[in-house]
Amino acid sequence: MSQFTSGSLEAKNVHLAFGHNKVLRGIDLSVPAGTTASVIGPSGSGKSTLLRVMNRLIEPDAGDILLDGKSVLKDNPDELRRRIGMVFQQFNLFPHKSVGENVAFALRKLRKLPKEQAREEALEQLDLVGLRHKADVRPATLSGGQQQRVAIARALAMKPEVMFFDEATSALDPELVKGVLALMADLAKGGMTMVVVTHEMGFSRNVSDTVTFMDGGVVVESGPPGQVFENPQTERLQGFLSDVL
Ligand code: ADP
Ligand code: MG
Repeated sequence: MSQFTSGSLEAKNVHLAFGHNKVLRGIDLSVPAGTTASVIGPSGSGKSTLLRVMNRLIEPDAGDILLDGKSVLKDNPDELRRRIGMVFQQFNLFPHKSVGENVAFALRKLRKLPKEQAREEALEQLDLVGLRHKADVRPATLSGGQQQRVAIARALAMKPEVMFFDEATSALDPELVKGVLALMADLAKGGMTMVVVTHEMGFSRNVSDTVTFMDGGVVVESGPPGQVFENPQTERLQGFLSDVL
């Protein structure tokens, strides 16, 4: 896969509290166009919240979010969400629509394509994830790995400049994880800008350009995978890695 119109993405000194719970306490994350940033860290460290702030599902209390070097905080949030594709742990496919309609739906609603053209583009996207032959069946007849690939196709159909993955393989049976990670690696190699929250340390180490370790709402360490995995500087990261590796 190639020829994405990737953008660079940056979070600058982002703060967010839920009531008294300060969940993000001055986060900086810089993702140059065409690179993949993985975000690792213990449960509750603020990883999902960071993604949600970066696509403005939640407004930050302070700080800035920049796409292609321009602050997006004053733009229409719907416009931003169209530029950032998101894939979750739960695939969130519509159960009563066919696989093809699941992908075509957003094309009709958000990109306002006519029905036939939406169907054509949906089939092309399904082809890219190896599931064109499943276009006319319901999602429930697919494996979890196939459903997640449909969710990825649906996000890609919007022609996003950036893709977010939030533990996209955590709900999958172990034997299905590989296919989804391979697809994500293809996207990364094809030049998509990606932010990947993951427990898959193999993906983080081998595919991502930078690794960011969060704990307690701050970035504790960040750098290229070789540095973060082979030469962790803090006890917190050393402890985390010894638990997960
Ligand atoms: P992670 O993805 O790293 O596991 P989260 O970003 O989901 O962490 O959560 C970080 C903290 O924010 C947790 O303490 C969680 O309870 C809290 N939190 C997340 N979402 C909400 C919300 N909508 N309302 C209140 N607290 C929340
Ligand atoms: Mg999370």
